[in-house]
Amino acid sequence: TLALTGATGHLGRLVLESLLARGVAPDDIVAIGRDTSKLADFAERGVQLRTADYSKPETLAAAFEGVDRLLLISGSEVGQRVKQHGNVIDAAKDAGVGFIAYTSAPRADTSDLVLAPEHKATEQLIRDSGIPFSFLRNGWYTENYVQVAQQAKHTGLIIASLGDGTVASASRKDFADAAAVVLAGPGHENSVYELSGDTAWGYEELAQVVSDIVGREVTYKRVSSKEHRTILTKAGLPMGQAGFVVSLDTNTRDGALGLVTGDLARLIGRPTTPLAEGLAEAYAAAE
Ligand code: NDP
Repeated sequence: TLALTGATGHLGRLVLESLLARGVAPDDIVAIGRDTSKLADFAERGVQLRTADYSKPETLAAAFEGVDRLLLISGSEVGQRVKQHGNVIDAAKDAGVGFIAYTSAPRADTSDLVLAPEHKATEQLIRDSGIPFSFLRNGWYTENYVQVAQQAKHTGLIIASLGDGTVASASRKDFADAAAVVLAGPGHENSVYELSGDTAWGYEELAQVVSDIVGREVTYKRVSSKEHRTILTKAGLPMGQAGFVVSLDTNTRDGALGLVTGDLARLIGRPTTPLAEGLAEAYAAAE
């Protein structure tokens, strides 16, 4: 039996689709989430639904009963995640789960990325558990740039403080397919995959792609970190959030999101979705 947590989220739903498309029997899949009513469409197709919350260990114990292989999709409550993921790992160990795949971050154990520490700590907890694992170190989703495109439609600008930094993004579907391959297939025990798009693109290219999508000229405006923070706070972003955005840009400038390894294309057996195609699709879906 294969199970995934975070099944109610964007990535989780795509993993479910991918498992079914790969011919995994629906009743061999356990989809776990906090609010499984979101997954009624998958229940109709025969997928088992179980309710659990990363913060409630007793719910996790019940959810993992009989599960052989588990995909732990990292939670979205930044700051809580080491404790939450620890609960998941403990419950998986108690339930006799034989394999955990975990959606981590690029070079989680050595990266300066502001989001890396929680992923690094989770990877360590999984290693310490002794359960065979695969770390799916997911790079950035192309979908993260839909908001940038929506803003640029109004302003004609993409303002950022990442200089010539690059992002090797891929579509969520690409990462979801990789997760499904690793969860359902053999030979991934104790593996670490650096998953990213086949091409690292810069913001000049992003501006061109966005320009084509929104149908107006879009310019990449380079600003310093200090200017960026001021612009964001003046636009109404709380200080903490502005600081987070600027830190991510600094990380990107320093190369944290630009690594291209080919691991993702190799796992899914096809090239990753190019920026122009993935962003156009996600932008249209958000309209
Ligand atoms: P979503 O926000 O769509 O999904 C997050 C999932 O985590 C949801 O199913 C959510 O459940 C679940 N979750 C959050 N907190 C808990 C909890 N306490 N107990 C149980 N489940 C919980 O994100 P995506 O699917 O797009 O991405 C998956 C993960 O990847 C994110 O959670 C985040 O860790 C990371 N991420 C990666 C990005 C990247 O560019 N690589 C960008 C953004 C996030 P519920 O439906 O109940 O809220």
